[in-house]
Amino acid sequence: MDLAQLLTSLDGRGYGDYKRIRGTHALLLPGSSGHAALDVDRVQVDPFAPPSLTRVRLDRVQTGIPDDLLADRAGRIAAGDFLTRAFARAASARLGGGSSSPRRADRDTPPPILIGTPGQQVLERTSVVFTDAEVDMRITVALPAAGRRIKGRRAASLLCEELPQIVLDALVAPLDLDALRAHVTLYRDQLDLRAQLKSRRLVSFVADGALLPRRSGDSDLPLTDGGVPFRSPDVLKTSFDLPSGRRVSGMGVPEGITVIIGGGYHGKSTLLRAIERGVYPHISGDGREWVLSRPDAVAIRAEDGRSTASVDISPFINDLPSGADTRTFTTTNASGSTSQAANLIEAVEAGASALLIDEDTSATNFMIRDDRMRRLIPAHREPITPFVDRVRALHDERGVSTVLVAGGSGAFFDVADHVIALDAYVPDDVTEQARTIARENDASVREDGASAGCEDPPDQSHPRLHFAVASRVPEAGSLRPADKRKFARARGRATIQYGRDDIDLSAVLQLVDTAQTQAIAHALERLADSIDAQTTLTDAVAALDRLIDDGGLDALSPHPGHPGHLARPRPQEVAAAVNRYRGLRIRG
Ligand code: ADP
Ligand code: MG
Repeated sequence: MDLAQLLTSLDGRGYGDYKRIRGTHALLLPGSSGHAALDVDRVQVDPFAPPSLTRVRLDRVQTGIPDDLLADRAGRIAAGDFLTRAFARAASARLGGGSSSPRRADRDTPPPILIGTPGQQVLERTSVVFTDAEVDMRITVALPAAGRRIKGRRAASLLCEELPQIVLDALVAPLDLDALRAHVTLYRDQLDLRAQLKSRRLVSFVADGALLPRRSGDSDLPLTDGGVPFRSPDVLKTSFDLPSGRRVSGMGVPEGITVIIGGGYHGKSTLLRAIERGVYPHISGDGREWVLSRPDAVAIRAEDGRSTASVDISPFINDLPSGADTRTFTTTNASGSTSQAANLIEAVEAGASALLIDEDTSATNFMIRDDRMRRLIPAHREPITPFVDRVRALHDERGVSTVLVAGGSGAFFDVADHVIALDAYVPDDVTEQARTIARENDASVREDGASAGCEDPPDQSHPRLHFAVASRVPEAGSLRPADKRKFARARGRATIQYGRDDIDLSAVLQLVDTAQTQAIAHALERLADSIDAQTTLTDAVAALDRLIDDGGLDALSPHPGHPGHLARPRPQEVAAAVNRYRGLRIRG
């Protein structure tokens, strides 16, 4: 009995009987000489459970994809991304539903066949992978039901007619090889540029002509009209020669301390946000294709209410009125400033070579303290050494650069290597003017200070080597979820359900895709098993990253066959999730 007959014979029976379709079936591709295999790896137990996991495998040769496009990992990632998008479009065109559905009302209901939903970034995914001989497409199917009964005929047409047709539409019949080649070439160029940043001593690159603003606050799509293309200030202009022969020029953001200033609504946050997202390559047409940042750059914000487990925030915070030791700062409810300090230290622990900070989402008392306040509250009565007094040491001692938006305070003029002013979205280098202002201001404050008998010049109250950040060793077992029956899973982009607890990742700004969040959920379970009495958090996370390098993203999943829809998270976001798990305990 073939699959169509089997499904038809199940029509009207209890939903549980769907499990009889588990296994491998032949899938005929109509009007094509080729055929494919359908693996039904996991069958949902009822119509409301997560959809069934199936894979379509077909001969690589049949797709006609030239081998050179799949010869390296970058090529396979980009080609997989391309085919995922093509399949998703074809599925929603045939079945309705999904964002490209012709009917508006259908757009919120997903089509019954899904392959994952890439956004503006190109990420390594489990949706489509290539083996030596095959293209393996990982699909979820919501098996059709009437009440709790099997709709066998509908299932037969879904799996045996519509699915093969979608495969054909997407990958075989009119596969646009030119577009595929362009997609792969762009991605390889982007990775090459990103990899050059370090040796060029740049933190980020924003090309001339880039379009940074988005359509709306809740959309990652480019602004359709009225966008002012980016233009580099002359002083920071640089260019890159890329493997395809392409050359791009624009603004290089150098290592060190860069401050972005400008009037309200002049595009500061938009520029910083683009730099944040630049850790990932973006698809053609996004506007940020040529905005690329060091892959380990981390956006830092205040996050009051988060928990911390034994974080050494003493470079910033000492002598809390509660008497808490800030070298092993542990709390279930951090304040604005202590949360931002913890976020920063954890990012450095996780290997960030650049920090990206926006005044809009910072705790003011963490960032600066003005002269009047310094006079009224002497340093020994103020627990906080503001970031402005530490940012230089962070770079000079630890090699960690900072890109900072600060439109409301000139406090960073003294310590900045570069000051970029945005005027109606157009950047200008104003480093010299800012230095002059800082010098004049300094002189007048010194006179003032002397007459007022002011002690406490900034940055001398603590010895050097503030940033000897050591990686912490979690207590073995503390990473196990409190309730084993409830496994770890993503609930949307920003929440992981972990045992009985929720891990809130809404302040983890560079987590961009729910499939990344799901991958992190699996990563946490693996870390829970792999951490022992000696492993530092950083080493454990790095080992996991190598596991993905060697075994592919599939290696994270506990399920054989179809691994679920996962996208690769950075080690920084994996660490961020561990750090926000309220059950985390550190050996000390
Ligand atoms: P700031 O942080 O300086 O207050 P934002 O970055 O929040 O400003 O930008 C203010 C508004 O301007 C936003 O609606 C943003 O989408 C828009 N915007 C930013 N950059 C551009 C640009 N290059 N062209 C057109 N609009 C832009
Ligand atoms: Mg802003």
